[in-house]
Amino acid sequence: MMAACPLCGAACPHRFTRGEFRIFRCAPCDFEFVHPIPPPEALEATYGGEYFQGAGHGYGDYFEAERAVTLRKAAQRLDRLERLGLRRGARLLDVGCASGVFLEAAVERGLDARGVEPSAAAVAHARASVRDRIHDTLEAAAAHAPYQAITFWDVLEHLPSFIDTLAVARSLLAPHGWVGVVVPVIDNANARFFPTTWDQYKPPEHLWYFSRRSLRAVLSKHIGPVRFEEPAWIRRARLFDVAWPARGRLAAAARALEAAVTSAALVALRLPRALRIDSMAMYAERA
Ligand SMILES: [Zn+2]
Repeated sequence: MMAACPLCGAACPHRFTRGEFRIFRCAPCDFEFVHPIPPPEALEATYGGEYFQGAGHGYGDYFEAERAVTLRKAAQRLDRLERLGLRRGARLLDVGCASGVFLEAAVERGLDARGVEPSAAAVAHARASVRDRIHDTLEAAAAHAPYQAITFWDVLEHLPSFIDTLAVARSLLAPHGWVGVVVPVIDNANARFFPTTWDQYKPPEHLWYFSRRSLRAVLSKHIGPVRFEEPAWIRRARLFDVAWPARGRLAAAARALEAAVTSAALVALRLPRALRIDSMAMYAERA
């Protein structure tokens, strides 16, 4: 079973299957992808109101419980953009802004921030102060171009046409404008050696699985040189992400045993930091 790599076009072997979705790997690109991409109706169904508040997939209760975490991450990312030269009054576009928490933080810092969010359910939860700043498509946000920064926080891996989207983003950037990206990356022992244990393999939400190398290559090609990168999330405690099927005493005992064994294994293995990176942040400057 083979599928064409979306980055280089080479025929790539099937790596493993999760649910009804097949994941392929392009070794030369160090990039993995779902094939075939589910039809638009199926993807839309994934992101209904349930996505942000349901139990099955997506976010637990994104809007309230995760608000503090989202604000903390927003502060770090805005610090970085400021160190890269973004000034008060600059125009920023946050693609996939959900309920606009990052926009709130950006506006607070004096940026002229807008967002794009196709999910009406998410936008319904936006605070009044930013709701009018959220567009439903990238095309609608184009009216306010050029932007000094366009950000994709945990978004590219969800987009069926991420390369086209990056090309549009580039066209909306001012000269020397920035694209900021955070995506899960396969540079960790789970994804490399025990793929079924990595919790970020979650089709159809995540369609593309970048590595540091392939993310850098994609941004360099479609935006411009990557000027800064850092791990956004380092795997700490667990070597495996076993989804224990049952509740109850036996499952609890199994979980406790697994936790003890894996924390001992982690200490014994002394996994280097490079094998624990779950997610990367990168900032590319428009060439
Ligand atoms: Zn390839």
